[in-house]
Amino acid sequence: MPVENLLGEVGKGHHIAFNILNVGRYKLGAGTIGGSKYAFRNGIRYAKERIAFSKPITAFGLVQEKIADSGAGIFAAKSLVYRVVGAIDASLAELDKSAPNLTQETQKRIEKFAVECSIIKVWCSETLDRLVDQMLQLHGGYGYVEEYSAERSYRDARINKIFEGTNEINRLIITGWMMKRAMQGQLVLLPAIQRVMDEVMAGPTPREERTGELADQHALLASAKKLSLFCAGAASQKYGAAVSIPRQSRGLYCVSRSKRLVRGR
Ligand SMILES: Cc1cc2nc3c(=O)[nH]c(=O)nc-3n(C[C@H](O)[C@H](O)[C@H](O)COP(=O)(O)OP(=O)(O)OC[C@H]3O[C@@H](n4cnc5c(N)ncnc54)[C@H](O)[C@@H]3O)c2cc1C
Repeated sequence: MPVENLLGEVGKGHHIAFNILNVGRYKLGAGTIGGSKYAFRNGIRYAKERIAFSKPITAFGLVQEKIADSGAGIFAAKSLVYRVVGAIDASLAELDKSAPNLTQETQKRIEKFAVECSIIKVWCSETLDRLVDQMLQLHGGYGYVEEYSAERSYRDARINKIFEGTNEINRLIITGWMMKRAMQGQLVLLPAIQRVMDEVMAGPTPREERTGELADQHALLASAKKLSLFCAGAASQKYGAAVSIPRQSRGLYCVSRSKRLVRGR
């Protein structure tokens, strides 16, 4: 390989390769939304045309449920993708485009979104996965027949849970990197876990009261966050340092005998 073809610095090629994966995961997620919308439109068109028991099948509650779930899945996937690309754009816009280290700075800034890119990859590919299954189901027996697009959508969707790192590996990245960043103080995760663990140990607390149009949704989200933090705390109490997956961060996280979360070596 001629030396003038070198990209970046010698010995640091993996940074470029991993960042390509980050962007690839983000793009995979965005791409699956196109597949989801295509399958969704075809599923609804078929359901409106198919008459059973003298009615279009869209009149049945269980069919409406599939359509509603699928629509909500697409909305959530799009919201995730737009939110993250907005944050990446805003971060890159701050860079000085004439700086000699522009490439390295761009790389560092994208790398900060590695967890979000993995979340998008997992969430969007699994949204597509559920959606094509629901839309195929709406087609009944025709869903299994190659002449209908539902069959192809179902088959084509499958690869998205495998390439750009399988969803199992991306789940490990989400946990590992989040914990690593918590250890490094880049995320205020440990104090939040500690607060929830303390709250649980102190006994039942009254439900948080909220007002306004989205009060119920806020309350549900707050409970979901607490549950996640509690699970993270319980997992770290049981598994100690092993909860932080990447090898380089092992040994950084442990729980003292008093069951408080502490920084380790
Ligand atoms: C159509 C297609 C196109 C592709 N394009 C590219 C490309 O352009 N560039 C490229 O670099 N690669 C590409 N790939 C490769 C793809 O990224 C890999 O197939 C994928 O990352 C999975 O790796 P593997 O096949 O070696 O599976 P394996 O690593 O053998 O995994 C097998 C199973 O074990 C599970 N597993 C493995 N380790 C763990 C663990 N620690 N914990 C839990 N479960 C685990 C996996 O999740 C999976 O379910 C492509 C693959 C396909 C099929």
